Amino acid sequence: MKPEISIEFFPPQTPEGIEKLRSTRAELAKLNPQFFSVTYGAGGSTRERTFSVVKEIAAEGFDAAPHLSCIGSSRDSIREILGEYKAAGIRRTVALRGDLPSGMAETGEFRYANELVEFIRAETGDWFSIEVAAYPEWHPQARSPKDDLDAFVRKVKAGANSAITQYFYNADAYFHFVDEARALGVDVPIVPGIMPIVGFTKLARFSDACGADIPRWMRKKFESYGDDTESIRAFGLDLVTELCERLLKGGAPGLHFYSMNQSALTTEICKRLG
Ligand code: FAD
Repeated sequence: MKPEISIEFFPPQTPEGIEKLRSTRAELAKLNPQFFSVTYGAGGSTRERTFSVVKEIAAEGFDAAPHLSCIGSSRDSIREILGEYKAAGIRRTVALRGDLPSGMAETGEFRYANELVEFIRAETGDWFSIEVAAYPEWHPQARSPKDDLDAFVRKVKAGANSAITQYFYNADAYFHFVDEARALGVDVPIVPGIMPIVGFTKLARFSDACGADIPRWMRKKFESYGDDTESIRAFGLDLVTELCERLLKGGAPGLHFYSMNQSALTTEICKRLG
């Protein structure tokens, strides 16, 4: 069976960004993804923009999965958002805790993602197919790997249909995580999140913040290229394609691409994967 792919966007802030995303989407649509997902700013900062991109995707005839984070939110506001998506015929969502924006002290009525999953199920039954986040290299705030794995299992048992992982460049971390989750009775698909490599400096900073490891040998090699963007791109493409091949060969059920609203790298990787 051909593995499914899904592709993630963030909601642009400017009219030019929205226009550019339309052409990016038209390109990526050629890959026939299972769904396009759209991120959501914790605390509701992108509520309107996320909804607007999601509606466009649905109007183009694609399955759209709005991300929804609960930290800093009330039950009433989440209920309202779910109602809006339901009325728009959206059947899928990515349920997250999110991170409190800096300066925002109010944590709201939800503490962790499993509470959001429970709430969505209680409010809307089986209407939504729910994705949750998974962390093969462990969430940066987790007290221990065991705690993080238990938290993941809780989210799935609360009613998630599938999981998407944080990106990683070490396939063994993914296989280990899947084995551990399966041993605890998790039987939903755990889809690896894939971050194509556009440049190295930003990626390194972002990876430090979200707890994704860039192995030393890769880091050293990227650093050695300096400003040579062509070499970085070529090495990044080889690396990520090989990672995807290994993951699919090892049984990954599909791939979720963090597109960063760009089509070229995701398209090239999928082309190489055949
Ligand atoms: P949770 O599953 O709630 O876990 C958060 C932390 O709390 C973990 O360390 C966990 O171990 C711990 N924990 C869980 N339950 C308990 C408990 N009962 N007691 C103690 N500790 C506990 N962020 C956005 O803002 N918008 C997005 O659109 C977005 N999309 C994402 C998509 C994917 C696929 C991924 C992987 C991440 C995404 N993120 C997004 C980032 C995410 O919001 C952050 O990683 C956030 O810090 C954790 O969210 P979560 O849903 O994984 O939280």
